[in-house]
Amino acid sequence: MLYIAHARLLTPAREIPDGAVLIDGGRILAAGPAAGLPAPAAARRLEAGGAWLTPGFIDLQFNGGFGHDFTSAPETIWPVAARLPEHGVTAFLPTIVTAPLNVSAAARAVLRAGPPAGFVGAAPLGLHIEGPFLNPGKRGAHNPAHLRLPDLAAAADWAPEAGVRLVTLAAELPGGLELARALAGRGVCVSLGHTLATYAEAQAALAAGVRYATHLFNAMRPLDHREPGLIGLLLTQPEIVVGLIPDGHHVHPALVDLAWRARGPHGLNLVTDAMGALGMPPGRYPLAGYDVIVDGQTARLEDGRLAGSLLRLDAAVRNLMAFTGCALADAVATVTTTPARLLGLAGERGQIAPGYVADLTLLAPDLTVLATLTAGSVAYAALPGWKE
Ligand code: ZN
Repeated sequence: MLYIAHARLLTPAREIPDGAVLIDGGRILAAGPAAGLPAPAAARRLEAGGAWLTPGFIDLQFNGGFGHDFTSAPETIWPVAARLPEHGVTAFLPTIVTAPLNVSAAARAVLRAGPPAGFVGAAPLGLHIEGPFLNPGKRGAHNPAHLRLPDLAAAADWAPEAGVRLVTLAAELPGGLELARALAGRGVCVSLGHTLATYAEAQAALAAGVRYATHLFNAMRPLDHREPGLIGLLLTQPEIVVGLIPDGHHVHPALVDLAWRARGPHGLNLVTDAMGALGMPPGRYPLAGYDVIVDGQTARLEDGRLAGSLLRLDAAVRNLMAFTGCALADAVATVTTTPARLLGLAGERGQIAPGYVADLTLLAPDLTVLATLTAGSVAYAALPGWKE
């Protein structure tokens, strides 16, 4: 049993200046004002010293990091997951980009096999499969040799219980709406991305069950006042959650602010889209069969196209606040309650409340990560006395 004392709780719907959290069996037993929640004698006490305590962060688009690329080496999902708490991340969707279909099958086998003995780290909640059903006209850094048209048979066993949580596709391609409908019917979160969809085509995709969009503004038809395209729909439709990469390179800060004003904390979801060089020095790194040049700020192909980011999710939260002036609670909601609700996990993750998985992130006044708990275990701690 664990007792976290003197935390400034952001649930994130509520702020509790002097809060406490009681944890047992990997779940939150109780959380609230410290005055009403005394520490049980049997509990190990962790002193938060007035630091912010938020739900653990959830990244829906993460290709790899710390020198490993999931599409090139799916077996690295677990060792990378063990390090993600350094960024306040407690759950994520390992993202497999366009590749032969046996690659996502191998990644699902890695998830099915489960973590190594003694694993403590971020929980992979299933794959995000980005491709191969993408529009060649907006392929970005995806390998054209492996792009293909939407194919019901190729995705016949894609379902949450089989390790597929989210699929990015271009629904305007022949067969795209049928595939979107089939996946959504199985409970997969279907996303539009790497797409040339017009406004009308995006509306049809919404009607077919699409509920997410992959990296707003990137790899989409540009906004035009006579043909608003997918972007026009994303800025105005409350039914669809919008992924965004706020690293200051993928999208200009002014348009991050525009997206924020249009969609707010329940419509916007910050992702990193981080690639294998995240957390590594500048150099050349593999991404799904390509060499990517990393200069410390961006990751690019030889021709200059962006190929994933070097963004950490805690920095994404800080950047959103810097770009928009929004409150910490709202920025935190974009990486906690909003992705949890999108994945159908609203009763399990993304909030500090009794019964929820004890995934928690402790933030310093400058909003850097002091400590992270995953399922009630200290997975990362820069504070003395927190390490077990
Ligand atoms: Zn992409």
